[in-house]
Amino acid sequence: MTKTAEQTAESHVFEADVARLLHMMVHSVYSDRDVFLRELISNAADACEKLRYEAIETPSLLGADAENRITLTLDEESRQLAVEDNGIGMSRDEMIEALGTIARSGTRAFMERIEASKAAEGAQLIGQFGVGFYSCFMVAERVDVVSRRAGTQEAWTWTSDGKGSYSVSPATSLTEAPSRGTRIVLHLMEDAKQYTARWTVERIVKEQSGHVPVAIRLVEKPGKEPVQITDGTALWTKPKSDVSKEEYTDFYRGVSGQYDEPALTVHFRAEGRQEYTALAFIPGTQPFDMFDP
Ligand code: ADP
Ligand code: MG
Repeated sequence: MTKTAEQTAESHVFEADVARLLHMMVHSVYSDRDVFLRELISNAADACEKLRYEAIETPSLLGADAENRITLTLDEESRQLAVEDNGIGMSRDEMIEALGTIARSGTRAFMERIEASKAAEGAQLIGQFGVGFYSCFMVAERVDVVSRRAGTQEAWTWTSDGKGSYSVSPATSLTEAPSRGTRIVLHLMEDAKQYTARWTVERIVKEQSGHVPVAIRLVEKPGKEPVQITDGTALWTKPKSDVSKEEYTDFYRGVSGQYDEPALTVHFRAEGRQEYTALAFIPGTQPFDMFDP
């Protein structure tokens, strides 16, 4: 008899601190759920960066697929959002270590702060501490992670409902896993189905992750062609002459939440003892909540 994945799935209990963090994520840090996407994209970009670094010593890790990318796939019908990268990936042990325990001491400090704070402050704290991965349980009732470590054949699946335990098993069919890297599939809660809408996801990505140094593509529905939504270079790092008026306007709308044209756009680079780039906009119309933000 052949063993099925069901039989080989091992169940693990989250480390106590993770369970505590997850509980807090779901129950108190509820004000700005959009941040989960920024966290998953930032992890995907980190994974690409780690691969680039390891490939300096071991170029064969890149194989024929040297160009890093992050792909978001929306599936409204089955209420799923997938974030996939072709970065370094995770082995079985790395998955258990990275997604089942809290290795960083900063997180403990975060939890203490957050328990003492109000919910509204929570989302900002997530940003400061980068609590990251677990924030996806703010919007997902179940999360599947399928990953293949660069340079290895085997692939592993990690799955959890964020309520105390997770299970790890070999990926059932090897084609289900990315050929390299990680796919994170969120089975969204009923009240989070807006995260399968192209417009919403695109807005959040441009707003929060427009600066991520890896190109981001969006697949609107399974089977559709991916469309690139960010090119992996921050707008403000480009020379002024390479940026069109539309790009400035799009970016302005993304960060400001306004739908008008900027009245004034200022973009310059200063070089000297300190080097910096500035990009500033003056809105074309008064924001409706200017005196009551
Ligand atoms: P941080 O990014 O600050 O380390 P996270 O909670 O966001 O914390 O992620 C925890 C860990 O999970 C990461 O450090 C990494 O080891 C692993 N991880 C998460 N997402 C990915 C991914 N897409 N590819 C590879 N490893 C990942
Ligand atoms: Mg992270």
